[in-house]
Amino acid sequence: MRKKIVAGNWKMNKTLPEAEQLIKELLNKINTEQKVEVIIAPAFVNLPLAVELTQNSDIEVAAQNMHFEDAGAYTGEVSADMLKAIGVEQVILGHSERRAYFNETDEVLKKKAHKAYEKSMTNIFCVGEQLDDRKAGKHFDVVKSQLQKALFDLPLQAYKKIIIAYEPVWAIGTGETATPEQAQEMHAFIRETLAKKYGQDLANNVRILYGGSVKPGNAADIFSQPDVDGGLIGGASLKAGDFDAIVEAAKKL
Ligand code: PEP
Repeated sequence: MRKKIVAGNWKMNKTLPEAEQLIKELLNKINTEQKVEVIIAPAFVNLPLAVELTQNSDIEVAAQNMHFEDAGAYTGEVSADMLKAIGVEQVILGHSERRAYFNETDEVLKKKAHKAYEKSMTNIFCVGEQLDDRKAGKHFDVVKSQLQKALFDLPLQAYKKIIIAYEPVWAIGTGETATPEQAQEMHAFIRETLAKKYGQDLANNVRILYGGSVKPGNAADIFSQPDVDGGLIGGASLKAGDFDAIVEAAKKL
């Protein structure tokens, strides 16, 4: 049985005082009863505070990105060791905004995924097609290629710390959501792709999240699909009430 995950990607939102307020609201509201894993991913500058405030709580903390080198002349970047030193053990990699606006290619993401593995960090790895890909019927090929290029040189044991997030780019921040059937179809395909490469056992155990305009009103329908193991939430993770309602929807399944 795969435990559901609800992860919030805060993106470039919330100053330190705002982050403090939101985390405190989340701590007051969220009660996972150990049924759901809850992760928040604030901006780098807010991570130390997030780690401190969520100690001894049900809320885990992830970074939104990291560099693939350990240290050096990479102005503006943050390494795995820097994250680990402040108690952050999870990182979102390959978000479509990183791919689109910061030129993160499959090759770069492969290096990052390997670094996350080397440093024993949980890698929440995002894949997903553009609208044109879907219209052209290429969505399965695109997602398969993203997985193969960045992750398929990793050994089987790396997947103990890999969570896949399927995020169709056309559904991110647009208010448009994949239908539960579209999400299920792609999640089943991802699982099948993993099974062909690493075996059915591994594929059965990897958690695959859906991301793209998940809200309290649609979370239950999407999360109840057999291959959907929760969600990566953008906009709705910035409102404690909405995020808690999504956690509650996951809890009931
Ligand atoms: C995301 O950016 O990961 C995301 C899913 O955003 P939203 O929920 O706002 O569509």
